[in-house]
Amino acid sequence: MGPRGPAPRLGTGAQLSNKLHRPREIFDELKKGIQLVNHFVGNLTAMPIPLFLKPRMLIATAAALTLSACFGAPEVMKGGSGKRAAAGKPNRPQAVGTPSFANAEAQQCAFELKQAGVRFTPLPNQDHGGGCSSIDSVKLLDIGTPVSGLGAMTCPLARNFAAWAQYAVKPAARKYFGTEVVKIETFGTYSCRNIYGGRSGRLSQHAYSNAIDISGFVLADGRRIMLDGGWKGDRPSQDFLRALHKSGCRRFGTALGPDYNAAHYNHFHFDMSGNGYCR
Ligand SMILES: [Zn+2]
Repeated sequence: MGPRGPAPRLGTGAQLSNKLHRPREIFDELKKGIQLVNHFVGNLTAMPIPLFLKPRMLIATAAALTLSACFGAPEVMKGGSGKRAAAGKPNRPQAVGTPSFANAEAQQCAFELKQAGVRFTPLPNQDHGGGCSSIDSVKLLDIGTPVSGLGAMTCPLARNFAAWAQYAVKPAARKYFGTEVVKIETFGTYSCRNIYGGRSGRLSQHAYSNAIDISGFVLADGRRIMLDGGWKGDRPSQDFLRALHKSGCRRFGTALGPDYNAAHYNHFHFDMSGNGYCR
C-alpha cells in the first residue's frame, strides 16, 4: 500500500498573514465576516437537516468557506495562482456545484453529528481548482473541547474526529494525567496539495477536506503534550499519545503517526480514505 500524505508544517496565523501580504484592514473585514457567519450558524444547527439548504445560509457559508480556505491552506497560496496540474483521482464523490447534503448518506451523517451534540455549520460544495474540493463538508464549531486550526472537513471525518475527541482523548487524559484536556491543537484540515507536499504525484486527502493533522493537547493544569517531544517523552506522555494513535487506527480509514516516517514526527494524520491503514 502506498504512502499517505505527510503534511508540511503549517504556519501560525501571524506567519500566514505575513505570507499573504494582506493589510490589517482586510484581516479585520474577514473577521467581521466570520462573526456574521457565526451569527447565522447559531440558528442553523438547531434546524432540521433539510433547512440546511436555505439559500441565504449557503451564501453565508460560502463566505465562511472562502475564508477558511484562505487561512487554512497556505500551500494553496505559495504557488501564486493556487492552480496546479490535476493529479490522481479523488477519493470522494465529485458533486461540485450541487447543493451539499443532498443525498441520504450525507444527511444521515449530519444527523449523527447533531445527535452527538456537536455544533457545526454545513458548507456548500466547492471546487477549489486543481482537483481540490470540499464535498458535503462542515465547519465544526463546538465538539465539547476547543480545537485550533479547523477548516472544512467532510462530514464523516468531522463525525469521527468529534467522537475520537470525546471517547478517546478525554478518557485518556484522565487515565494518564488525572486531568482534563482543554484544547486539541491541529495543523489544519483542508489544504490543496499533493501527498508529501510534492510538485507532482497524488493529491493528499487534505485536498478533499478529508484529513486532519493533530499536533498536540493542552491539559487543564497548563501542560502541553505535543507529538513533537511527547512521542519519545516521559512515560505518561508516551502512553497517552500511543493510546490516542491506537484509537485513531480504529476510528479513521488511515492513521499515521511519528513511527510512520520522519515527516510525521510532529503530528497524527487521520483521514477517511483507506480501510484501517495504521502506521
Ligand atoms: Zn495530514
